Amino acid sequence: MYIQSGELVIISKGNFHFRFNGKFLKSLRFCIILLLLLVSIIPCFAAYNGIIKAYESRAVSVRTAEIQNQCTILSNQLNSYNYLSDMSSEVINASLTQLTNIYNGRVMIIDKNLQVVKDTYSLDEGKTIVSEDVVRCMQGKSTNYYDKQNRYIAVTSPIMEGETGRIAGVMLASVSTDSIVDNINILKTKGGMIVGIVIILMLVISFFIADRIVKPLKKITESIEDVSEGYDDEVLHVNTFTETRLLSEAFNKMLGRLKQLDKSREEFVSNVSHELKTPLTSMKVLADSLLAQDNVPIELYQEFMGDIAKEIDRENDIITDLLSLVKMDKTAKDLNIKTININELLELILKRLKPIAEMKNVEVVLESFRPVSAEIDEVKLTLAFSNLVENAIKYNHKDGWVHVSLNADHKYFYVKVADSGIGIPEEDQANIFERFYRVDKSHSREMGGTGLGLAIARNAVIVHRGSIKVYSSEGEGTTFTVRIPLTYVA
Ligand code: ADP
Repeated sequence: MYIQSGELVIISKGNFHFRFNGKFLKSLRFCIILLLLLVSIIPCFAAYNGIIKAYESRAVSVRTAEIQNQCTILSNQLNSYNYLSDMSSEVINASLTQLTNIYNGRVMIIDKNLQVVKDTYSLDEGKTIVSEDVVRCMQGKSTNYYDKQNRYIAVTSPIMEGETGRIAGVMLASVSTDSIVDNINILKTKGGMIVGIVIILMLVISFFIADRIVKPLKKITESIEDVSEGYDDEVLHVNTFTETRLLSEAFNKMLGRLKQLDKSREEFVSNVSHELKTPLTSMKVLADSLLAQDNVPIELYQEFMGDIAKEIDRENDIITDLLSLVKMDKTAKDLNIKTININELLELILKRLKPIAEMKNVEVVLESFRPVSAEIDEVKLTLAFSNLVENAIKYNHKDGWVHVSLNADHKYFYVKVADSGIGIPEEDQANIFERFYRVDKSHSREMGGTGLGLAIARNAVIVHRGSIKVYSSEGEGTTFTVRIPLTYVA
């Protein structure tokens, strides 16, 4: 196996193959692992700290209460034995020693002059103690204090004077909290071990979960790569999660659409080739038949050459229309949008087409309901409307009529091209906007049609975010309606 330098590769027995490099840090797998680790480890540490803190505070308060209790009992005894006046009582001295032994502490008896009269450590006897706790205790309030840093608890308890009930002194006991700290340390070690085990377990689990989540995505990527390499019948079926199922479905849909586009492109190319070949074949036949004969009369030459010239014109028309269509297919950014007077634009179109209409004695009328100015690409829409009006004349009867009308509201302008012509059979109406589709091929060809006029018109309307519709009944006539926004929206 080839390993890139600078990478750490971990390969386990199962399906785990992880490469730790820059890519891995940016991967979804890494994010999932990190998230799962954080989600599990943070509460773990919080619980660990909480337990230790709770134990410490509970242990300290229990110990404080115990000492306080002992001090109260002892100070009562001191009172009854009048210990402050006579410190020879063996019972009291034994109790004091016992207390200091049990709790590993020190007891000091302080008289009302704040002088230490008894110290179980025999260090400070005769000295004066002026501490806040002692002074407060002299006023009758027992106090306690926990010094975490120096690991001890200090407790004061007032000593009453015989029968008067006045405060004669203070008992100050300070005990070590070493045993509590030892317990906390044991707790920390064990807790740390548990947290460590949890981290390792969560690491393994999160690697496993991340792998499970990422696997379907990997499968999708592989399938997409297969498809892009040319296996175009391959479809995705990654149903592991709802999301991957939806992704697969969307991808399959897109693939279907691409196939459809590819098919229509192929069809278009074959149609174009066929349409371009037809005039060439006719020309070839005409030329061959002239060449095959000797002493061809000049009249026949003239007739055949006239036919060849017509086929050249036809070829030219097809190429011109194809070029227009290709230009239409370009994106909206290629449009040359300007504010144009639509009334004038239609008048000009009708003027240009007048000679064709006159040839068939077709009456062409323009009805403008209001002056209309709109943001359009003049060349493209002129071509679209010209094609509609030209068709209305071409597929009309002799002495027929064509009505072109223009109207508008606050948002759109509407152009209607109605004719009294041959009409379009219902079953063909859905297809007439397709490239090279002709209801009657020979009739259309006779009329000089290329089968691209309506495709060009529809594309021009669509790039303007407009719509085009056809209403027709065979033998009665046809109406095309076009709706275009007055303001161009990119
Ligand atoms: P063509 O160059 O053949 O006219 P078009 O794309 O312009 O191609 O039109 C497609 C077909 O739709 C035509 O061949 C014709 O059969 C039909 N058609 C279009 N306009 C009309 C109309 N106004 N009346 C009747 N048939 C029409």
